[in-house]
Formats: sequence, structure tokens, C-alpha cells
Amino acid sequence: MLEYPEIKTIALQARQHLVGKTIGSARLLTPEKKFVFSSNRPDDFSRRLEGGTIESVQSCGNHLFLETSFGSVLNIGDTGGKMLFHLEEESIPKKRDMQLDFTDGTFLTHSVTMWGFISAQTSEETIAAIDRIRDEAMEPVRAEVDVEAFLSFIHQWGDAERTNDKKLIISRKYFTGLGNGYAQDILWRAGIHPRRKMHTVGEDALRGLFFSFLDVVAEAIDAEGRTTERTLLNKTGRYEPAMYRGSLGQPCSKCGTVIEKFAFEGGACYICPECQRI
Ligand SMILES: [Zn+2]
Repeated sequence: MLEYPEIKTIALQARQHLVGKTIGSARLLTPEKKFVFSSNRPDDFSRRLEGGTIESVQSCGNHLFLETSFGSVLNIGDTGGKMLFHLEEESIPKKRDMQLDFTDGTFLTHSVTMWGFISAQTSEETIAAIDRIRDEAMEPVRAEVDVEAFLSFIHQWGDAERTNDKKLIISRKYFTGLGNGYAQDILWRAGIHPRRKMHTVGEDALRGLFFSFLDVVAEAIDAEGRTTERTLLNKTGRYEPAMYRGSLGQPCSKCGTVIEKFAFEGGACYICPECQRI
């Protein structure tokens, strides 16, 4: 899935490569696909975007927003797959769920893996969508967050006894935009087992967890996302996850213990059983 660092990277590249381009044609190609979610019918999607010029780019959590001169906004988010900018038609993937043809002969496509949301919406709908994401949780931006506020949130949190560490991350209870991918490294760096209930995590470990969130996100943004995902320019990112399917059976880089896998909370967990004791 494209998580916060990948969407931040794509937003930065979209500002450089897409702003100023006029949309000649906009197509939602697979409206019948079960896990491609949209609030538009295909004709409505086209009508809202065609003829508009991309004026600005915003991102919030794991959502990207391309704003056009019509006031309409293309929102792609909560998605796996590849969002790609193409200079030539030849590089367009056969399997794609959305395509914008720009009037200068370049293209934008999005191909959903797992699931994803693609919608052409009004600016009012966009403001409401961004407000909903911000109401849910904060963005993991170092300058805007505070470890003491995190500690008091966890200590006063009524659901701390019912919520495990993995769920804190993937259900966006405190920080937004992160899912099962980055959850692995965040918990491994903090030395916390995914099943640990939040009320059992001591203060030092909670501080470690907070900074682990910020460090992993900052490093991943610097590296333009994970090596397992693609940027807008169809390059892989340079953030090599410590804990993912490629590290199963390999030694933990902190202690040498063999990395294990188990299924938990709707996805695979990769842990070091020595560094992350339950
Ligand atoms: Zn270890």
C-alpha cells in the first residue's frame, strides 16, 4: 500500500511534473472492480475533470489531492498500486484503473493493487475529506507533534486496555497515514511486540515508540519511500524495510535472532522474537 511517505513523495513529484498541465481526457476505466472505490460514475468522473488545468497538489495522511482550475479535485488515496506519470504512451501499463491524458501528450495513470479510492470531487468535498483525516489523527511531522502529548493521550486513553500496538498504528489512533507496511519497522525499532496491549507499555518504551514513528517516516520520506513501492516517476524508493517479507528467516540486524512471521490484525507481522518480547 502507498503509505504516508510514499504519498508525500508522489505529492512532491506531482507538484514538479503535473502542475500546469491541462486534462484532455479523464477516464475511470474499471468502475465494476470490487475494490476500486469511487464516488463517481465514469461519465461524471470525466465531466468533472476534462478541460481543467492542474493548479495545485495537496496531500493529507495517505491521500493525494490534485486541484484543477475548475475547482474540481482528483483524490486518490488509501490505495495500493502504482500512480505513474508517463512521457510516452508506450509506458502506460495494460492493467490500469484510471488514466488522464494531458493536452501536451503526457499521461497520468493509477493501477490499484489490493484496494484504492479514486474520485473526482468538488473543493467543498475535498475540504471535508481533509478535515475528516485530520480529526481522526495527526500527521507524523516532527515539528508539529510532542512526545508529552502522546504520553498523556495513551495514559488517559479509555481504549488502551483493548488496543494492541499494531492496531494503534494501522487503525490510525494517534498518527495518520501509516499501515501494515511501516508498522513492522516502527514496532521493531521501538522493541515492542505487535500484540502488546497499549496500557502495558512502559513510559520509556512509549517514548521510544513515538520517536520510532517520526524517525521511520522521516527516513522513508528522504528515501522517496520503500524499495517495494514505486514513485510517480516509476522508480523504486530507497527505504529498505528492516522487517518485511524479504527479511523472513534472515538475522535481526540488532541481535542476530532469526526473524519470524505470523498473521495478526488482518495482515502479516514480521518480528524479532528477541528484540520484541510479548
Ligand atoms: Zn533482534
